[in-house]
Amino acid sequence: MSETERVKCLIIGSGPAGYTAAIYAGRANLSPVLYEGLQPGGQLTTTTDVENFPGYPEGVSGQQLMEDLRAQAVRFGADMRFGIATAADLAKAPYRITIDEEKVVEADSIIIATGAAAKYLGLEDEKKYAGMGVSACATCDGFFYRKKTVAVVGGGDTACEEAVYLAGLASKVYLLVRKDYLRASKIMQDRVMNHPNIVVLFEHNAVGLYGDGGVEGVHVVKRLGQADEERYDLPVDGFFLAIGHQPNSEIFKEYLDRDEVGYILTEGTTPRTKVPGVFAAGDVADPLYRQAITAAGSGCKAAIEAERYLSAKGLV
Ligand code: NDP
Repeated sequence: MSETERVKCLIIGSGPAGYTAAIYAGRANLSPVLYEGLQPGGQLTTTTDVENFPGYPEGVSGQQLMEDLRAQAVRFGADMRFGIATAADLAKAPYRITIDEEKVVEADSIIIATGAAAKYLGLEDEKKYAGMGVSACATCDGFFYRKKTVAVVGGGDTACEEAVYLAGLASKVYLLVRKDYLRASKIMQDRVMNHPNIVVLFEHNAVGLYGDGGVEGVHVVKRLGQADEERYDLPVDGFFLAIGHQPNSEIFKEYLDRDEVGYILTEGTTPRTKVPGVFAAGDVADPLYRQAITAAGSGCKAAIEAERYLSAKGLV
């Protein structure tokens, strides 16, 4: 049986945007309720050291940073809950969000901070070998590949970071890059190119996986000039995806404007969506910067907007 609850400020998502929104909303007496979603703490809990979040001159682990942000939000009264938003009705206020396909929360204002999820290539074999050698998170699964050989797909900062992390555990890491250059920042390119355990294979595409009961290798296609290609099998024990992310905005698509990838569109530099009282913060609305600190900043903006909206309506 479903139950309904009414809250002033509902925050969906527990990355830097959600937790920061909860800190500000808590301090503004909005009694925020935050649903943590599929991955409490968000993407940063799957990363190693965060070296670019201001205030940590020696760096901080992603896990620690998120625990600290969460504790700070709890200190100001945020009500943290496990649960995933599975449906949204933003037709009129109070807005209705369904949690875990069961419970309905009515909210006077909503801060969407649902982040983004790792993308896969779309190969049948990725599903076939899910949990048996295929992963989109090196820090979660790298441990299983100590002294083994792995492949990482991608040429951006994430792929380079994952490759360097894995190279500290595995004996060999192949980085499969579809173009003839890396898109990553110069510092990450240098780390990858100079690492003795990493072999960068440019103009390589993974087209399938093979193995009995687990990944034993990748079918790769190497581009040779304009028209030619070479197909061969690359023996590996693990296959890691690091090809970007998909914003988690699907349940809002009927009500909010999104770009072609799915990022929620907001008004100018504000977190306001086209629905009054509904705000979007962090990676779900940011195709450009996607950093922990920018997500935290937009979570702050969203909470300030929610406070102004609720007081203008006489709801706080
Ligand atoms: P990016 O979008 O920057 O890079 C994705 C990479 O995956 C590209 O090399 C892309 O290739 C490749 N790719 C995409 N689709 C496919 C496919 N179907 N087959 C093969 N390769 C594919 O994503 P990231 O996750 O690396 O980074 C996202 C943002 O986060 C960036 O702005 C990045 O700088 C930032 N970031 C910052 C970090 C830090 O500061 N510590 C750490 C990690 C990320 P192509 O180049 O050909 O499109």
